[in-house]
Amino acid sequence: MSRLKIAIQKSGRLNEASLSILRECGIIIPNGTGKLIAESSNFPIDILFLRDDDIPQYVHQKVADLGIVGENVLFESRKQVLMLKKLGIAKCRLSLAIPKDIPYNSIHFFSGKTIATSYPFMLRAWLDQYKVEAQIEEISGSVEIVPGLGLAAGICDIVSSGSTLFSNGLKEVELVMKSEAVLIGTENIEAAKKTLLQQLLFRIDAVLSAKGKKYILLNTPNDKIDAIIQILPGMKSPTILPLAEKGWSSLHSVIDEDQFWDHIDELKKAGAEGILVVPIEKMIQ
Ligand code: ATP
Ligand code: ZN
Repeated sequence: MSRLKIAIQKSGRLNEASLSILRECGIIIPNGTGKLIAESSNFPIDILFLRDDDIPQYVHQKVADLGIVGENVLFESRKQVLMLKKLGIAKCRLSLAIPKDIPYNSIHFFSGKTIATSYPFMLRAWLDQYKVEAQIEEISGSVEIVPGLGLAAGICDIVSSGSTLFSNGLKEVELVMKSEAVLIGTENIEAAKKTLLQQLLFRIDAVLSAKGKKYILLNTPNDKIDAIIQILPGMKSPTILPLAEKGWSSLHSVIDEDQFWDHIDELKKAGAEGILVVPIEKMIQ
């Protein structure tokens, strides 16, 4: 019987997050065996643990059918693979940064200067787009210490909160690319594997749809139902059930978690009581 092979990062920021998504899809994966390959016992899928930079290549060569990598790594690899789904994890951006106290007006600051980065291809593409001629110094590892050492005028590196830049005396001056983890695959996957892939994608959709969503239950006097429905934008067509107490109903719906916090005071004022907000694990749409 066919088995899918999915390549994920062996260790690093994407390792845990990739495993979590697969596990939330109900796929059992043996824990920390230290092996290069782990076999799921309840879904025909094998997990290959690799350095993230190698994943696009392995998928391109069909050693793995699928992979999970950051868009930044995918773009930098220049490998022809299919981007199947954005996964909403490992969100970050690739930015240019320079020492805090150096004045900065425009991209042309970088003309004729040296920029250190682990993403030379992406940086070159971006600089070309703005017709800026700069030297690119490819380095791996701690790029953020380079300007302090006087080796480059700036860096192009991954930023999430900006605190690493700040603690290295740098400021972010240009956004080069936004990135998140994506599921990649190959073209012309064999029929049996395609069926498995569709099953997996169905499960991933169910998991991703539930993210950030909550199930809300609340009690309300019947004459307040309309007002309460107006308050929560997600509540177009809630389930309304009569309570044992006359003149009262229980209202159920799915909402975005952020919406809940924005509207909780209004809900209470409108007459909602006994509000329960519970997590949703999967959502099939
Ligand atoms: P490897 O050893 O596999 O080559 P790495 O050191 O290149 O790992 P990590 O630092 O583990 O990579 O990051 C993996 C991916 O996670 C990056 O390519 C990027 O897409 C994303 N990422 C990196 N840093 C952050 C961050 N601070 N916040 C969110 N996502 C990030
Ligand atoms: Zn890497």
